[in-house]
Amino acid sequence: MAAALGALGNPSSVHRFGRAARKLIEDSRTGVAALVGAAPDRLVFTSGGTEANNIAIMGAGRGRVLVSAIEHDSVLQANPAAERVPVGRDGVVDLEALDRMLDVESVPALVSVMLANNETGVVQPIAEVVAIARSRAALVHCDAVQACGRMQIDLAALGVDLLTLSAHKIGGPAGIGALVVGERIDPQPLTIGGGQERGLRPGTENVAGIAGFAAAARIAATAIADHGRLGALRDRFERAISGTAPDAIIFGQGAPRLDNTSCVTMPGVAAETQVMALDLAGVAVSAGAACSSGKVAPSHVLAAMGAAAAAGEAIRVSLGWTSVDADIDHAITAWRAVHARAGSAAARTAA
Ligand code: PLP
Repeated sequence: MAAALGALGNPSSVHRFGRAARKLIEDSRTGVAALVGAAPDRLVFTSGGTEANNIAIMGAGRGRVLVSAIEHDSVLQANPAAERVPVGRDGVVDLEALDRMLDVESVPALVSVMLANNETGVVQPIAEVVAIARSRAALVHCDAVQACGRMQIDLAALGVDLLTLSAHKIGGPAGIGALVVGERIDPQPLTIGGGQERGLRPGTENVAGIAGFAAAARIAATAIADHGRLGALRDRFERAISGTAPDAIIFGQGAPRLDNTSCVTMPGVAAETQVMALDLAGVAVSAGAACSSGKVAPSHVLAAMGAAAAAGEAIRVSLGWTSVDADIDHAITAWRAVHARAGSAAARTAA
């Protein structure tokens, strides 16, 4: 990224400096596309996952849009009139409901289902979603922001028409993302200007951000192999929680999940209290969706899983490439201390 910041050329200029910047972009495009098995010329850089999702939902030009109830706000709010496909209590999209909803005779639809949920880590059956959608001539968009770098993604196996990625979820810089556009669709841009990025995302490219995205993609491709190790750490954390508080809910535990994510309740303790107490103990976790942390809103994801009542007591714990056994020991000790303090406070109140 530092080298890219020093490259002064505008990538649209034909002089040597411009050509150098252009080469940096095109090499990066190849690198990011490789992470998901996409053809480089189908990948358009955007300002992040939010913009890519907005373009997919608003630019696809489909009269009917169906979204899973657990999508990120950048999908849900891109079309407030979209029909919501329910999920089961395990957080997996209800394929029978999708099938029924698409059975209604109507205009061709766009279906949007994320690859892995950002709050629970639950992985969605995208190939099945695509099979159902294809049989009704519907297009499929998949927000893979959370899944990318944490599981293998093969665009051809998924079969989706639009795929969203974001650099900061794989260790790259914030403010750069991508939309992979399949051959069956030609979305309309949401911004007007020059012809950059196939005209779909006009504006002089963020060369340093793009270079950072590609660097992160290169590392992520090898780091995926480390996720089995993170899964074992995550499972140990969850076993300790269940051992301490058998009534704690671990969301999506029985469903396929990303290895690094755990969404758990501490019964009787507000999520914000947990977040602050754990932070004081040096453990950084989030209440609800981190993207919307700061504003304390109940999680629409947990509500969609039929757990609205418990949502206020749920935190999300994410492990990263640097997480080791000692971190889990520390997190378990801190969690138990907060739980014990809450228990004795409750006992004092009852007395
Ligand atoms: N989609 C999901 C699932 C997310 O978790 C996020 C947020 O981090 C986004 C989209 C938005 O991505 P960005 O922050 O790059 O705009």
